[in-house]
Amino acid sequence: MNAPVFPRLEIPHTIAAGPGPGNTAERVLAAFAGAGVADHMQPDVLRGMVECKRMLREIFGTGNVHTFGIAGTGWSGLDAMFSVVHPGDRIVMFVNGTFSGIDELSVRMKAATEEELRANPLNPDAASVVTIRVPHGQSVTGEIVEMALAEHKPKWAAMAHWETGSGRINDVKGFSEACERHGTMGLVDAVSSLGIADLRIDDHPGIVGWASCPQKGMMALPLTYAPVSFSDRYIAELRKVGARSFVHHPIMEARHWGIIDGEDVEKGTYHRTHSPYAVASFHEALRMVLEQGLLQRAERYQRAEAALRAALESMGCSVTSNMTSLVVLDLPRALKGREKEFVNACRAEGFGIWPTLSEPTQVRVGILNLIAEDELATIVRRFGEMLNRFDVAADAEAAVAELRRRLG
Ligand SMILES: *Cc1c(COP(=O)(O)O)cnc(C)c1O
Repeated sequence: MNAPVFPRLEIPHTIAAGPGPGNTAERVLAAFAGAGVADHMQPDVLRGMVECKRMLREIFGTGNVHTFGIAGTGWSGLDAMFSVVHPGDRIVMFVNGTFSGIDELSVRMKAATEEELRANPLNPDAASVVTIRVPHGQSVTGEIVEMALAEHKPKWAAMAHWETGSGRINDVKGFSEACERHGTMGLVDAVSSLGIADLRIDDHPGIVGWASCPQKGMMALPLTYAPVSFSDRYIAELRKVGARSFVHHPIMEARHWGIIDGEDVEKGTYHRTHSPYAVASFHEALRMVLEQGLLQRAERYQRAEAALRAALESMGCSVTSNMTSLVVLDLPRALKGREKEFVNACRAEGFGIWPTLSEPTQVRVGILNLIAEDELATIVRRFGEMLNRFDVAADAEAAVAELRRRLG
C-alpha cells in the first residue's frame, strides 16, 4: 500500500486570543522566512545566539551568566530546570491550576525512587514531594509558602509565577523571601509572565532557577527557544549532583550560546543542530520586546487587561483572574454548563479563545500581542456577538464603547 500524497497543508489565520501561543508578529514570521540556508555553526547564527543571550539577560533583569534558551517549548525549559532534582530530593510544590499541576507531575517523575516510579510509571507517587494545593481561582501567597517551608524544610520549592490555568498571579516576592529564610532553593515556572510582568529576577535571590517559553510574553514562534536563567548557586549544585540528561542539561545546552565553564566566550560550541530560522525569528522577537521597553509593555498590558475586563463584565461575565495578559471568566449565568460549546463556536470561526483545561470549566480570553485598541475592540465585539447568538442580550457595541473609554 502506498501512502497517499496529501494536498499541501493550508492553515488559516486565526485570532490567537487564548492563553498562548500569542499572536505572532509579522516581523517575527518575516525573520523566520527570510533567514538564509545556513548550518548551526555558521558565524552569523552563532553571533545571533550570543546576542539573544545578551538580550535575555536584559529581559530577565539578571546578571546570571547562565541565561539562554532551551530548544523547544515551555516544558523543555522546565524539564531542563527540574533536571537538577533527583530521586529522594525533598521538594515542596505549590499547585493552583493546570500548569503548576503539570510541573508537579514532572517533579514527581524526577524525585520518585526507582520503586516509586515502577509502581506507577505515568503518575508516580514520590514520598519526598510535598504538594500544597491552593484552590482554582486563588493565588499562592507568601504566607502559604512560609508555612509550608517552615514545616517541611525542603531542599527545593517550586511554583508557577503566573498560573495560566486559572489566570492567577502568585507571590514571587513572598516565595523568594521564604526560600531565603529556610535555606531552600526556589525554582519558578515563569512561562506566562516573562516579558509581560514587571519583573527583575535578581530582585528575588531566593529563587535559583527560572524557566519561560517562546510564545507567550516573548512573542516568538512556538517551538523555538524557552528562555531560562540559573543563578551561580543552581549551577554549583548541578555541577555537584549532575543531571540524567544530555539534551536538557543546563550546563551543556549553554555551551552553544557561548557560555563555557561559567564564562562568556565569543562563540558557542556544538551541543545540537540549531536552525538559522529559529535563531533569526527568536532574535527578532527579543528585539521587539526590548524596543517596546519592559516597563512600558507591562503598563500597556495592565491598561489593556483592565479595559477588556470592564468591557466583558459590562456584558454580564464575571472575571476571576488577575493576570494582565489573560482574562478568566464565568459566562453570564444563563450559559452555565455551556462554556465548551460557546468556546467551540468561537473557535470554529477562527476566534481562538479557550476553556480552562481543569475543573471548574471557565472561559479564557487572552491578549498576547493583541493590545492595540482595534485588536481589543475586535475581541470584545466578536465575544459579544457570540453571546447574542447564544440568546444572551448583551450590548456588544456598548461594551466596545466601554473598552475605548477605559483605554482613553
Ligand atoms: C503555557 C505554559 C506552560 C507550557 O508551555 P509549552 O510552551 O506549551 O510547553 C507551562 N507553564 C505555564 C505556566 C504555562 O502558561
